[in-house]
Parts: sequence; C-alpha cells; structure tokens
Amino acid sequence: MQVAVSLPQHAGLDTALDYRYGEALSPGQLVRVPLGRREVLGVVWASELLSDEEAQALKPVQALLPLPALDAGWRRLVAFAAGYYQRGLGEFALQALPVGLHQATPATLQRRQRATPQVAHSVGAAGLASAPPMLNEAQQAAVAAVCAQFEPGAARPPLLLWGVTGSGKTEVYLHAAAEALARGLQVLVLVPEINLTPQLEARFAARFGAERLVTLHSALTPARRLRHWSAAHRGEAQLVLGTRLAVMASLPRLGLIVVDEEHDASFKAQDGARHSARDLAVLRAAQAEVPVLLGSATPSLETWQHSLSGRYHRLDLPQRVNAAPLPAIRLLDTTRLPRSKGVAQPPMAQALIDAIEQRRLRGEQSLLLLNRRGYAPVLQCGACAWKSDCPHCSAWRVFHKSDRTLRCHHCGFTEPVPKRCPDCGNTDILPVGRGTERLAEQIGEWLPQARVLRLDADTTRAVGSLEAQLAQVHAGEVDVVVGTQMIAKGHDFRRVSLVAALNPDTMLFSSDFRAPERLFALLLQAAGRAGRAGGGGEVWIQTGQPQHPLFQALLRSDYAGFAARQLEERQAAGLPPFAHLALLRADSREQLQARDFLAACAELGQQLAPELSWYPPVPHPVARVANQWRWQMLVESPHRPPLQRALQAWMPEVMQLARQHRGVLRWAIDVDPSGI
Ligand code: ADP
Ligand code: ZN
Ligand code: ZN
Repeated sequence: MQVAVSLPQHAGLDTALDYRYGEALSPGQLVRVPLGRREVLGVVWASELLSDEEAQALKPVQALLPLPALDAGWRRLVAFAAGYYQRGLGEFALQALPVGLHQATPATLQRRQRATPQVAHSVGAAGLASAPPMLNEAQQAAVAAVCAQFEPGAARPPLLLWGVTGSGKTEVYLHAAAEALARGLQVLVLVPEINLTPQLEARFAARFGAERLVTLHSALTPARRLRHWSAAHRGEAQLVLGTRLAVMASLPRLGLIVVDEEHDASFKAQDGARHSARDLAVLRAAQAEVPVLLGSATPSLETWQHSLSGRYHRLDLPQRVNAAPLPAIRLLDTTRLPRSKGVAQPPMAQALIDAIEQRRLRGEQSLLLLNRRGYAPVLQCGACAWKSDCPHCSAWRVFHKSDRTLRCHHCGFTEPVPKRCPDCGNTDILPVGRGTERLAEQIGEWLPQARVLRLDADTTRAVGSLEAQLAQVHAGEVDVVVGTQMIAKGHDFRRVSLVAALNPDTMLFSSDFRAPERLFALLLQAAGRAGRAGGGGEVWIQTGQPQHPLFQALLRSDYAGFAARQLEERQAAGLPPFAHLALLRADSREQLQARDFLAACAELGQQLAPELSWYPPVPHPVARVANQWRWQMLVESPHRPPLQRALQAWMPEVMQLARQHRGVLRWAIDVDPSGI
C-alpha cells in the first residue's frame, strides 16, 4: 500500500512510497514504517492490494498507531495544499502532524483535564462575563449570516467581518461558535499569536468551559501539543484555538472556521511549505462545506478586493459597542521639532513627554510603539568610518546595552562591544539611532518618576516572562510601556489612554509593496489599544510626512478610502491582488552561484510558459546572511490557473537543475509570497 512519509526536502518524489502489510489498511491510518535506516511516521494514502510477488519486494509496515484514521477531508486538504504550494505530499502531510506522534501510546495521548479554567489574571472582569451580552443589530445580522450557512445546500461565500477594535467581532465569533457547538460540530479559531492574546482564550474558555477547548501553537511543549492535537482528532475537543499551524489540525466534525485578524502577516509561513493559513482556511471551509468567518478592522487587500467583487460577503460592524468613541489621532510633524544639541535624530516631542506625564499623574498608562529592538541599530566610531557591521551578513549589528553586546538580528552573531574602535583604536564609539532599550532609558531620564516597562522579543524570551510583564501592565504597576509591534496586538489594556507611534516612517518607505498596508493596520490596531475602557483615548504619531495620504486616511479612520487608493496603485503596478506571484529563492556561499541557477531556472520557465512574466534574479533586500548570498526571481501571471499550471511543469525541471548543484545551493519556492 502507499504510505505518505516525509522525505528530505525536494527529493523529487511526491508520491507516497509502497509498503506491505498483512491486510488492507484504510487510507488515513497512521503507521510506523522503515525509511532508510530509520523508522518514521507515515499516513496510509492508498491501499491497493498487491500480488504476493510484488509485496515480497517491499518493506513491511512496522506498526499501526492506536488512533482513528485521518479522514478524507483532511487528506483532500493536504493533497491540495501540497500541490498548490509545490511541496511533496508526504512532506506536507507530516509537517501538519505533531512531532512525537509516531511514539505515541494511548497513555501519552490522554488529555489531562485542567482543574479550573485557566483564566489569566490579566483579563479584565468585563471580558469575562460568561453570560453572553445581547447582541446589537449589526452583530445579530452577522451571526445570522453565519448561521444561514450551516443549512445544507446553502451558498457559502467566505464572510468578512469588518469592524474596528471594540466593535464586537469576538462576540460574533462566540455566538457563531455556540451555534456550531449546539449542532455537535467542531469549531476552529485561528489567531495570529496566541501568547499575545490570552484574553481570547479566556473568553472562549469562560463561555464554553475550558474542558471543551484546546489550543494548538508552537509554544506548547511537544507532549501537550500532541495531547491537544489528539483531542481534536478524536473529536473530544469541540473548540480548537490556534495559530497558523492549527489550520491543518484533524477535525472530523468541523463545522465552522474563524480567522481573527485575518490580515496578519504571521498567517503566512516564512519557511517550510510557506503556506498561507488564512488562504488554506478559506479553502478548507469550501472543501468541507462549512462557513468561514474572516475578522479584521483592516482586511488584507486580497480579502477586501474579494469583498468588493462580491466573491466574499462582507458583514460590517460600523460602531464600537456602547458607542465608545474612537481615540483621537494626532500627527506630530517631526520636521518641526526643535533639534536639541548633539542629537541627530529628532527626540521625542516635548508635548508628547508632557502628555505622558499627565496620564501618569491621573493613574493612566501610555504605550510607546517603536519598531526596533535593542539600544541602537548601529555603533559608529567617532574618529573613523568604522560601523558595527556583521562580518557574516550585509547588515549592521545592533547594540544591546543591557549585556553590552553587538548582535546581528539576521544571523545571531554576537560579540561583546569592543572597548576601542577595531579600525583606529579610538575609544569614542557612539550609538546611532534608537531602539526600544534606549527609548525606555530616555523616558526614565525625562520622567524620573515614571515606572517604565520594555516589552519586546528580548525582554520576553524566558518562559513566562511575557505573561508576568503583561500582568504588571494590567495591575497598573507601570506607567509607560515601551515596545515593538508586539504591544499593538490584541491586549485589552484597560488603563491605557495614550498610544504613540515613534518611527512609522521607516515602514512608509520600505521597498516591500505590502508595507503601507501593514503600517495602516498596525497603527489602527495600536490606536485600538487607547481608551478601551472609556472615552478620551489619544493616539500620537510622530512622522516627517504628516500630509501622506496614509496618515490622512488614518486621521479619519478611513480604511475603505486607504484601501481604494492602495488597490489603484496595485492595479497600475500589476501587483496582487491583480496579479499572482511566485518567488523562487536560492542561497549560495559563492556570490553568483545562486544568481546563475535562478537565471537558468527563469530561462526554463520562459520556454515552458512564455505567456507569463519571468523576471531575472535580483538580490534579496538583505543580500547576504550567515555568509550565504541570497537571490530571488519572480514569476508573475494575471491569473492563478496559468501560474499553477506553469509551476507544475516548471518545478520538476528546477529540481533537476538543482540536483546538479547539490551541496552548494539551497532553494525554495514561495507561492503567493508575502512580499517581494
Ligand atoms: P472586538 O473583538 O471587535 O474588539 P469585542 O467582541 O471584544 O470586540 O467587544 C468589545 C467589548 O464589548 C467586550 O468587552 C465585549 O464583551 C463587549 N460587547 C461586545 N458586544 C456587546 C454587546 N452587544 N453588548 C454589550 N457588550 C458587548
Ligand atoms: Zn575608528
Ligand atoms: Zn549576521
């Protein structure tokens, strides 16, 4: 019989391998099979019976796992996704299963019941009312639209739930989920980053009971992830709340999929099979004939365009619940700030510092958003041209003051800060620019009485530290939170009344065509943090471009206007959603090897499908990382099917070519890349 196993990447075998077993096994059964000298997990894919003679030549299946088979819906999803993203079937299938499954025993799969619902201390009481509130009209209409799709034979366009923070989207998810559960169905809820939104888990647990809910995300220990996965697979867990990896969970009675913050970039995997969990969620719902609800205040332009064209059905939540006003947004023109002596970059506006102090005196909190961690992005010698570059990458190493290191954020290379300039021996080495660490220090100097907390990937690395720091914020033990975009996500900070974004312009002028879309989403989401508990929230944005249409649209909270403009630009430039892209990436130690490989690939593609656009290779924006030169080449098509057909024909040739460069080249195909 045919068993899907995970073969080394791009081994070029995308069919399952043949094994023998005494009796026919049903497709979807989990088995252990020999592969080379190892014994690995496999999924029975097809079970033709072979003649004795044929079977004799095959290796035997070693064991059956004590679990129900993966159902046809799951297998169909895997087969589609593997084909669409140009990966091996077995590779994709096995990537979707939890590690450690092949050693699973009935005991390790048993779910331990949690004694009490794990309600994070961080949750405001209002979020926890387990008796559902009466829905307003817009919410009722949204829930009704979902419920209509539970009926057999109903049309099921994907539903876009559009509403700002606090407009009651989560309440719609909860009601729709309740309806699915009442029908005995399972609900899959996808969120960008579970650790940043403990409230959501707590709200689902409070409403439905923690014992019906499991989470699936990469921060779980392998043992727990295995138990949670198996609870979903066996239908014991009715609700699965997870990050992008959960989209491939086995859910035998799937009845509803919710994707919260559907625009979030973290739904797109940046390695492995590079799939988009949001897109697969939409596909999975269509295959399973169940409703899918995509929620956002700032939908991705793909989703928005679908809602304009009528392919998706849009549901609007036009107002914040209880008519709480949106925070007032102010633009601070940095070109008009007085420059203080010796400081090259504009300091923080005095008015902003005063505003933070006022909030502190009132017992309110401020969030300062700076998308750059570390103390300073680069150190520079005061006497010569030396800068703290990374010897292995085309990037600067970032100065981290707490442990006095220079760290490369691309390859991780870390060294103590040199006492003297490595080039000229001068001891006067200066930080240039500002990261969160420096900002937190500066706030401490400007406002000595303020209790400042820094929240970024560096301060939250240790297990439990993020939760502990969030708890401090919720408990009112800090006045000012300085952090990266991590702090803009879904936290329900009740005491925050001021949010400030300090360097949004770096995203405004990024080469990535999605950067404006991301910036708008980030700022509107950050604005949603201000004044959640009542009116009077304010958002300050320090920019050198106050007239920029993006900021002007933001002032009016005008996502639709912003999106219309962006879509026009995308159409004119032939970019998604008006074009479909695939990116072939390659790295090599020799600077030009990857480029030459990609150029040859482009030529092959051009011959196979001359009607598509095959662009010559270009260096990656960070051209060298960990001593590997990175190149990429783009394929573009106005329509998806011809692109899919071309990839299908092209990939075997690419693999063939890559085999000649084995050992000197790494490569990967990225279908629907998140940026170019
Ligand atoms: P969103 O997900 O859009 O940010 P939520 O669903 O979290 O919005 O709603 C914001 C707050 O308002 C929550 O505390 C929620 O419990 C409450 N809420 C939502 N809908 C209603 C309603 N119809 N009546 C009263 N309170 C509501
Ligand atoms: Zn020097
Ligand atoms: Zn580096």
